[in-house]
Amino acid sequence: MSVKYETIVVGLGAMGSAALYQLAGKGVKVLGIDRLSPPHTMGSTHGDTRITRQAIGEGAHYTPLSLRSYELIRELETRTKTALLQVTGGLIISNTTHAGAINHIEDFFGNTVAAAEKHGIRHEILDAPAMRTRFPQFNVADDEVGYYEYEAAILRPEAVVKAQLELAGETGADIHTNETFLGFEETSEGVIVCTDKGTYKAANLSLSVGPWVPQVMPQYASLFEVHRQIQYWFDVSTNYESFTPGTFPIFIWQLKGRESGMYGFPAVDGKNGGFKVGCEEYNTVVTPETIDRTASKEEIERVYEYNIKPFFPMANDCCLKTAVCMYTVTADSAFVIDFLPGSKRIVLCSPCSGHGFKHAAAIGESVAQMLMDGETELDLSPFKLRCTA
Ligand SMILES: Cc1cc2nc3c(=O)[nH]c(=O)nc-3n(C[C@H](O)[C@H](O)[C@H](O)COP(=O)(O)OP(=O)(O)OC[C@H]3O[C@@H](n4cnc5c(N)ncnc54)[C@H](O)[C@@H]3O)c2cc1C
Repeated sequence: MSVKYETIVVGLGAMGSAALYQLAGKGVKVLGIDRLSPPHTMGSTHGDTRITRQAIGEGAHYTPLSLRSYELIRELETRTKTALLQVTGGLIISNTTHAGAINHIEDFFGNTVAAAEKHGIRHEILDAPAMRTRFPQFNVADDEVGYYEYEAAILRPEAVVKAQLELAGETGADIHTNETFLGFEETSEGVIVCTDKGTYKAANLSLSVGPWVPQVMPQYASLFEVHRQIQYWFDVSTNYESFTPGTFPIFIWQLKGRESGMYGFPAVDGKNGGFKVGCEEYNTVVTPETIDRTASKEEIERVYEYNIKPFFPMANDCCLKTAVCMYTVTADSAFVIDFLPGSKRIVLCSPCSGHGFKHAAAIGESVAQMLMDGETELDLSPFKLRCTA
């Protein structure tokens, strides 16, 4: 046991890399450990793009996290001279009854509008004719209504993780990749962490292992379900100008009469790169080991028939590529960011349920504050570990 750290961060994906970056930047002697070498394609943080928006429909407490994350990502861009956040505007489509597929929470649309009004976030409400005029790429129905947010944007998840890890390393963090965390023991003086390569002592520990959380922390496995998600890129080369960032916004579509909503992005990789869509799926429970990482021909055909053809008539039927990813979902889609019961040293950080990336920068900052100061500037009380384990 040669090196003693103030803090160890296990799992260096979206959440862990953000926490490591913040801790190292504050001069904390910190070790980051990951079983793989992030950014990678085996967890929840790959597929080129993530949506960010400022007025958050998942609950009133999320908007301050999102707003702070915008600031932190802009700082990260300045420090690394890398483009990480691209404002495209965002369109959330619901219907006048707000009935339909649930986006993580009941009345997502109404909550979004309320959050925008409360925080002075620039937006417009569009009826169906206005949406058809502004965004003819979307085949909306007469009873559909849109919330358009001007600052909604695309984040680049792999580039954000890479930037945070590089800066953490430059500011003194030790980073051990391809090293697997096996367990820990809390003592009166701190925490002893065991991996497949060694044993380390630290004052504090943060666990941010994404879809591996049920295996790493089996005592909390009942709180989380891991679901397979597929990202699809469909060809738009024949109408490319209608799908470019600036012309085509990021979107979330609460499809009426459907089990699942749909979200998507403009064509960010040029004329032949396609536009990306995802249709949330909650039917298959998987683990990172058992998941089928290939989308089948039937799955691709079904998404074209049910999601692309009726709603995006300017897109083509050719699916250029797919990427399989995982949501780690709690029963109410809320995040878990909390000290383990009875501990002031060990944080469990599991913010996914399909909407965590946009908040990751502020979550990393908050986890650093929890471990250094015992409290956070932003209110994380809605993300308590609610269990009896
Ligand atoms: C398809 C898809 C689309 C999404 N879209 C959006 C979106 O548009 N907007 C949005 O805000 N959010 C979105 N999300 C959610 C967001 O991407 C997640 O909230 C976020 O990526 C979760 O990050 P994480 O750090 O918890 O997990 P990960 O990034 O998966 O990181 C976990 C890390 O832990 C490591 N690890 C696991 N076990 C061990 C171990 N034993 N020892 C050491 N290391 C270990 C893994 O190797 C991995 O690197 C989406 C998610 C998916 C899957």
